[in-house]
Amino acid sequence: MNSSSIKRNPSIVIVGAGMTGILWAIKLQEAGITDVTILEKANKLGGTWRENTYLGVACDVPAHMYSYSFEPNPDWSHVFAPGAEILAYFDRVAKKYGVAEQINFNESVVSSVYDNAKWTVTTSKGNRFRADFVINCTGILHHPARPEIAGLESFDGDQFHTAEWDHGVELKGKRVGIIGTGSTATQVIPNLAKSAGSLHVFQRTPQWILPLKNNRFSEKFKQSLRMNPKKIERLRAIYSWGMRNIITRAVTGEKLPAALLSIACKLNLRLGVKDKALRQKLTPDYKVGCKRIVISSIFYRAMTQKNVNLVTDQIECVVPGGVKTKDGRIHELDTLILATGFKPTAYMRPIDMQGRASQTIDQAWKRKIVTYRSVAMPGFPNNFLMLGPNTPTGNYSVIAMSEVQCDYILKLIDGWRRGEYDEIDVSEETAKNFSAYIRRGMGKTAWASGCSSWYLDADGDPILWPYSWERWEQEMAEPQWEHFQTRKVVAPIAMNDTISA
Ligand code: NAP
Repeated sequence: MNSSSIKRNPSIVIVGAGMTGILWAIKLQEAGITDVTILEKANKLGGTWRENTYLGVACDVPAHMYSYSFEPNPDWSHVFAPGAEILAYFDRVAKKYGVAEQINFNESVVSSVYDNAKWTVTTSKGNRFRADFVINCTGILHHPARPEIAGLESFDGDQFHTAEWDHGVELKGKRVGIIGTGSTATQVIPNLAKSAGSLHVFQRTPQWILPLKNNRFSEKFKQSLRMNPKKIERLRAIYSWGMRNIITRAVTGEKLPAALLSIACKLNLRLGVKDKALRQKLTPDYKVGCKRIVISSIFYRAMTQKNVNLVTDQIECVVPGGVKTKDGRIHELDTLILATGFKPTAYMRPIDMQGRASQTIDQAWKRKIVTYRSVAMPGFPNNFLMLGPNTPTGNYSVIAMSEVQCDYILKLIDGWRRGEYDEIDVSEETAKNFSAYIRRGMGKTAWASGCSSWYLDADGDPILWPYSWERWEQEMAEPQWEHFQTRKVVAPIAMNDTISA
């Protein structure tokens, strides 16, 4: 049967209404799939951009690249758009496609259970949805990681994680401490430095920083993009080229881009921090790209402000009045901010997901998280994961990655629509072979060069894609059908299950 053949209309549950959930809703409309339920735990869409409202929140991927390919936006205010603007963009796109009305807000998924080619999805409202497919659009960096520091709860002042920013807390003129110097902290710190009376930055490991300037776009420039959308396409292509050919190639082991990137970061530090002692404290002892490269042209300037104190003595504990470091000093604080990152491998959890033979996802992933091509999980037929492990490299647009994954999964669903199978997944062996393929690419990458980061799992295996972007796109262009196992559960398919394509 070809794609113009009679098609079944599957029922699909989308979990989450962030960037990937909205994308799915639009793509399913395009595909003519109408039986779609979108479940969103919060009262608003937007995922990470709804959750993260910290001072200075922005996307460090150029905005014209961090947009859906089919919804270019001439109105981005800056090269790296602020979080609120990105949230407004998703809101606008969701409204334009009528996605917003499709979303069941304030309804989180409690469990999804598989039986005989159907998923039963139970929600916090006690509703049960029966679906042929479940797509987990639950994001990657979602659950805040709190540091295991003794006495953290004993702190007398205000304390919050960057992903749960407390806008009610006055920071102006206050003694503020921030733990962490990752991508989030480096966006917060320059803004905090402007308002806090004193700012104590507790750094465990310094970061390499690439100084890409966050220029504001003029009205004239935006108008020229509105008049000529091809210009947006060109801009997107230029950014994508740069990210792919310099950053991605550098971190996946190509020598020339790695050398260029290394020079740029080292020069930035040399020129940005004149004070030798401070520069030394800010100098990483690992290769550029081993941890996620921080993009900022303002961080070092902030670190040299008089009211900013970089603390590199390790934290011993938190006491009611502040943070005590191992040198015995107590850094007295009014507010303590945790910029300590996220649990990167939680994925769709805490959903109680039960696949074939009632195996739970926690059981399946107890030893190690294993997927096939990031999207398929052995033992969990007709259930797919967006932005799963081994989705390509950091410092690239996750929107571009999501579009590729979405098209790939749609091809798997298309086989079901054509009536070729009712159940599709991969064997454990196939998934293990895929993991081995990922591991083989690891040796060349910067991530394996000796540092600790959320890019590596407990076994030291990358949770990113260790090859080029082009290779990923090419391998994701068509499913390798021989890697999938399919089954007909109910045969023949009843004609009243069908709609015309
Ligand atoms: P992160 O990169 O994991 O950084 C966490 C920071 O907290 C690190 O500096 C870490 O130090 C420190 N830390 C953790 N536990 C600690 C402890 N017990 N004591 C002292 N320090 C501790 O987290 P993030 O900055 O939130 O960024 C996470 C990811 O979010 C990024 O890699 C990126 O993918 C994404 N992100 C993206 C953007 C964007 O613009 N696109 C912006 C923000 C975040 P160590 O380095 O020593 O572990």
